[in-house]
Amino acid sequence: MGAHHPHDPLLRGHLAGLVAAVLFGCSAPLISTVTRAGSALSIAGLLYGGATLALLSVRLVRGTQAETPVGRQDWPALAILTLLGGVVGPMALVQGLARLPAATSSLLLNLEAVFTLAIAVLLGREHLGRRGLLSAGLTIAGAVVLSEGSLRGTTGVGSALIALASLAWGIDNNLSQRLSLRDPIQIATFKAAAASLPMLTLAMVMGHGFPSVPVSLELLAIGALGYGISIWLDLLALRDLGAAREAVLFSAAPFVGALFSLAILREPFSATLLVAAALMAAGVVLLLREQHSHWHRHDNLRHAHRHWHDPRGGDPHHAHHHAQADLIDTPVDRPFWHAHEHQHEQLEHAHGHVSDAHHRHSH
Ligand SMILES: [Zn+2]
Ligand SMILES: [Zn+2]
Ligand SMILES: [Zn+2]
Ligand SMILES: [Zn+2]
Ligand SMILES: [Zn+2]
Ligand SMILES: [Zn+2]
Repeated sequence: MGAHHPHDPLLRGHLAGLVAAVLFGCSAPLISTVTRAGSALSIAGLLYGGATLALLSVRLVRGTQAETPVGRQDWPALAILTLLGGVVGPMALVQGLARLPAATSSLLLNLEAVFTLAIAVLLGREHLGRRGLLSAGLTIAGAVVLSEGSLRGTTGVGSALIALASLAWGIDNNLSQRLSLRDPIQIATFKAAAASLPMLTLAMVMGHGFPSVPVSLELLAIGALGYGISIWLDLLALRDLGAAREAVLFSAAPFVGALFSLAILREPFSATLLVAAALMAAGVVLLLREQHSHWHRHDNLRHAHRHWHDPRGGDPHHAHHHAQADLIDTPVDRPFWHAHEHQHEQLEHAHGHVSDAHHRHSH
C-alpha cells in the first residue's frame, strides 16, 4: 500500500475517518437529551439496534464486495471488541452523559483518542513521529483543561464513566485495526447485532424502562448514523491509516459534538471550552501535516486481503501470479479489485506510509 496506488488510500482513509468522527461527534449531544427516557441498557440497545438496521441496508444496497471474510482465528478478537465496544462503552457513555453537560462530555470523549494511541504505540508497535506525539499531547492537555472544573461531586463519577467508555473504545479500536483487512461491513454488522440483541433482550427480561415510541425511533436513527455508518467508515480508516493516526483524526469528533451542543442545544459557552477546543484543534492540524517516508523493507508475508491489480503495471506490492480460481469475474484488460490469499515477496524501497498492516517495521 502506498504512493503508487491509483486510489490514494491515505486520502480515502482520512476522509472516511473524518466523516466517521463527525457522525459520532453529533450523536453524543443528541443522546444526552434523552438519557432519562429509559435505562442505560435499553438506550444502548436501541442505538446499536439502529446501527444493525443501517448496516444491513448498506449491505443490501451495495451488494457484496470482493473482501476477505472473517475467519475462525478472528473470532476471539471479534468477541472481545464487541463486548467492550458494543456493550461496556455505550452503557458507560449513557450513564456518564446523564451526569455531565453535553459539551463537557463531548470533549472528555477525546480520551478515546489518547487511550487508542497509547495502546497502538506502546503495545501495537505503531509509529508516530514527533509531530504525532506532540499532537497527542495537545489533545490530552485539552481534556485536562476541561475536566479540571468538573471534578467535583457527581460530575466526578460522570467523568470517570466517560473515561471508562473511552478506554473500552480504545481497546476496541486496536482490536478492530488488527481485523481491518477483513470485510469491514461484515465486522461492523456482527458487532452491532451481537451488541444490540442481548442488550435489548436483557432490558426487556429485567423489566427496564424503555423510551416512548417517538424517542425510541429517534435513538434508532441516531444509532444508524452515529454508530452503524460511523463504525463502518471507521474500520476503513483503521485499515488505511493504522489505529494511532485514526485516533488523532477521530479526536475531531468531540469538537463537532461541542459545537453541536452550543449551536443546536443552546448550552452556555465558557472560556474553558474555548481553550480546550483550541488545544485540540491544534493537535489535529499537526497530525494531518505529519509526513512519514523513508527507505524500508517489506518482509515476506502471506495473508489474504482486498487488493488492486493493474495489467499495465502499477502497485509493486501486488505483482503476484494468480491461480485460475482467483481470476473468476475479473476483467483481463482493465484494473480490478479482488480478495484472495497471496504472498508478498520481500521488497525494499522508499514511499510515504503509515502504520497499516503492511508497515509494522521499527524506527
Ligand atoms: Zn516507517
Ligand atoms: Zn498484504
Ligand atoms: Zn496484498
Ligand atoms: Zn491478487
Ligand atoms: Zn512498499
Ligand atoms: Zn512500504
